Amino acid sequence: MERPLTQHISANHPWLNLKDYTAVGGYQAVHRALKSFTPQEITKTVQDSELRGRGGAGFNTGMKWSFVPMDDATQTKYLIANADEMEPGTFKDRLLLEGNPHQLIEGMIVSAYAIQANTSYIFLRWAYKKAARIIKEAINEAYAAGYLGKNILGSGFNLEMHLHTGVGRYICGEETALLNALEGKRATPRTKPPFPQVSGLFGKPTIVNNVETLCNIPHIINNGAAWFKALGLGADAGTKLYGVSGQVNEPGLWELPMGTTVRELLEEHAGGMKPGFQFRGALPGGASTDFLVTEHLDVKMDYQSVAAVGSRLGTGTMIILDDHTCPVGFIHNLEHFFAQESCGWCTPCREGLPWTEKILLSLENGQGRLEDLELLETHTKHLGPGSTFCALAPGAMEPLQSGLKYFREDFEKHIHEKKCPWDEERNGSHL
Ligand code: NAD
Repeated sequence: MERPLTQHISANHPWLNLKDYTAVGGYQAVHRALKSFTPQEITKTVQDSELRGRGGAGFNTGMKWSFVPMDDATQTKYLIANADEMEPGTFKDRLLLEGNPHQLIEGMIVSAYAIQANTSYIFLRWAYKKAARIIKEAINEAYAAGYLGKNILGSGFNLEMHLHTGVGRYICGEETALLNALEGKRATPRTKPPFPQVSGLFGKPTIVNNVETLCNIPHIINNGAAWFKALGLGADAGTKLYGVSGQVNEPGLWELPMGTTVRELLEEHAGGMKPGFQFRGALPGGASTDFLVTEHLDVKMDYQSVAAVGSRLGTGTMIILDDHTCPVGFIHNLEHFFAQESCGWCTPCREGLPWTEKILLSLENGQGRLEDLELLETHTKHLGPGSTFCALAPGAMEPLQSGLKYFREDFEKHIHEKKCPWDEERNGSHL
């Protein structure tokens, strides 16, 4: 089984420095791209590979690049690696950043060449201190070796790369809020259109791609679009970094063919549920996705298959709900996070999320009324797609709307029994 992204990353070794990386074929894609491809050919190859954005939305990467206006060679353009990984339950980019930073840098050089950007940024999550240290060192190595800076490998192509750390706000992962943050402004999302590809950082054409997306680029250039497409098992191309967290025997992260089933991830890779715990559901791609339940265990974890059963692949890092955990409390915990992380820019999100959180808390504490369930249903619509400025609130509504669907009896039990049926477990008195 091919694992292009993680094959050289090992828990027993420190990060791959420049020497280690070049020893395993690193930077060949930069040589190849700058010597044998035009920028348009790179974009076409990436588009043909059907690589989709690994940040969560799954937009076709090559198509995104093709929206950058290329007619004026003198126009400033920017490339940004979105490393502001803050989706709950998601820790996939961290492995790539800490384990093989040159893979990201190489992906960024090739991507910047494709869109003819001469300045690039890595926008890093504030809490990723170890990654920050490693990336800084790797960028310095890449400059010293002539892979960054002026006239890279004698090609005439110039690229500067900067590391920027955020301040620990979830909204900064939204690409236009990220742009505002990078410009030193309040990190609120911008209206789209115009999309950043046309008017982004400082009003210039800008591509924002996720770390895992960019790390795939050198492999696509080295091996071709057809090779990449063939790595997937189903409708979508490539491999995927999948994660599982919760009450499983071996929580972790694995690079597997895109389209690996939920069951294989849970039972083979995560070692199944811990003794005494039953699977009740899973959020397939971080907190802002709809629950999958037992009937979905054989669903392929790719964009199309997960969407076909009413959820989203998102980041591909599953959070498991078990039978010892109150679903109302589980969802309340997520809504608390989203309410706290709302940037406050648009009213439905700023007002609706804390309200949702309060209703869930009263339900969890046995003070809810049946009408509250209707009210929550209404909130899922008023905070849903198209009602807010960005995807934060609609994402927050996904576990709630699917939780109300699949675990409705548990919500009702809280109301009828006037307490949380998991109270004893919450207090630890079952132990
Ligand atoms: P989106 O679908 O609006 O956009 C995705 C990308 O496609 C963007 O780069 C956007 O510019 C581009 N795009 C979309 N439609 C376009 C069009 N018509 N023309 C040109 N370009 C277009 O999604 P989003 O708001 O950027 O991201 C939401 C996703 O982020 C969610 O799926 C969520 O799972 C994920 N997320 C991830 C993290 C993380 O830590 N990785 C954190 C929060 C959210």
